[in-house]
Amino acid sequence: MKKNTGRKRNKDLIKSARRILVGGVNSPVRAFSYVGGDPIPIYSGKGPKVSDYDGNRYIDYVLSYGALILGHAKGEVVQAIKEAAGLGVGFGATSNPEVELAERIRDAIPLLKKIRFVSSGTEAVMGAVRLARGVTGRDKIVKFEGAYHGHADYLLAKAGSGLATLGLPVSKGVPREFLRHTIVAQRGDIEYIDRIFSRFGSDIAAVIVEPVGGNDGVVYPDPGFLKHLRRITKKYGVLLIFDEVITGFRFHFGSAAQYLGIRPDIICLGKIIGGGLPIGAYGSGERIMKHLAPLGGVYQASTFSGNPVVMSAGIATLRLLALLRDDYERLNSLTAYLAHAICKKSQDHGVSISVQQFGAMFSIRFKRRSHFRVFYRSLLDEGIYLAPSEHESNFVSFAHTKKDIEKTIRAANKAFRVLAQSEE
Ligand SMILES: *Cc1c(COP(=O)(O)O)cnc(C)c1O
Repeated sequence: MKKNTGRKRNKDLIKSARRILVGGVNSPVRAFSYVGGDPIPIYSGKGPKVSDYDGNRYIDYVLSYGALILGHAKGEVVQAIKEAAGLGVGFGATSNPEVELAERIRDAIPLLKKIRFVSSGTEAVMGAVRLARGVTGRDKIVKFEGAYHGHADYLLAKAGSGLATLGLPVSKGVPREFLRHTIVAQRGDIEYIDRIFSRFGSDIAAVIVEPVGGNDGVVYPDPGFLKHLRRITKKYGVLLIFDEVITGFRFHFGSAAQYLGIRPDIICLGKIIGGGLPIGAYGSGERIMKHLAPLGGVYQASTFSGNPVVMSAGIATLRLLALLRDDYERLNSLTAYLAHAICKKSQDHGVSISVQQFGAMFSIRFKRRSHFRVFYRSLLDEGIYLAPSEHESNFVSFAHTKKDIEKTIRAANKAFRVLAQSEE
């Protein structure tokens, strides 16, 4: 393809990557070990589509693992990044973009009276958990199986995302001692929660939960269960942390907490609020946040926190999302339409799958992993790029059109036909 002269081709690039990067990647799921074969290296993206190094184009449902709700290279976001970079890419000092992004987040999520920015979702969760421990003077935390909260040692037990994809219950390299204070519960198991609380209630600092699960495929919210968590944490003086690194600004212009009508104590954000650049944030009311240094004794610091280029990408994104406030409904329906159609097409061909969809997130599960592999490769051949694991969620952006969705449905239909034939 003419356009790509002077550029490495897919195969060469993957080969070079494997020589110098561990497994050819900087994050495990990207290696395609779940679906097999070479991963697709991505050269560029625009709107709902990405291009690989051979010049093939794909409708993208990975969207930087949920960060790009406006699609790729959105004009206003790119412009904001350029302007901010022109003023200097970082200072390690207070600057206006930090204040503006924090204010915009607070206006959308009033619970967050005070905010601390960091550079990843992992750091946001680590900060929130340390804060909860500092505030309560307790050590134990409760997390749920299949949830992913970043790669902090004490949260890598029975975690979703890449750990689930690789079938690892706990990461190697995590001393057992570090998991001593982590209690892993099953989502929805009220009895177990009650038992844990009656036994350890006064030793628990926090319960951390993804209000809508995004790291074991899409896991539907269970408002009754979340309300129970809210009640029992209050009763025992335990802080409830919502990990909204994926869900913040995903379903409406605000938090999933608001969407579900539940008021946690601390909310963690990431992904969308950075407009595609590395970000994390956590926040709460004054009473809790004042425990954080420099006001209080809970220490958390970082060289790149509140980076002006990142903040500016976030501001541009939230500014556009505020204007799209009434369009979330359409985005959610478009995703529901896609999910239903995929389900229907699978039934037409007698292929057994389950589709989970909530707002602009969806995931597809097959009876057998080998079926997912065939389906996945078939979709890639048709120019559709899904997350390369059944444990990851797929996302729809405001840039996706009805035409993109229809094309995806046709590709899925073809993939199911291939699967049905291979079974005969
Ligand atoms: C992505 C994610 C994280 C980790 O964020 P990073 O920016 O990858 O460190 C934490 N929690 C949830 C729910 C996530 O989806």
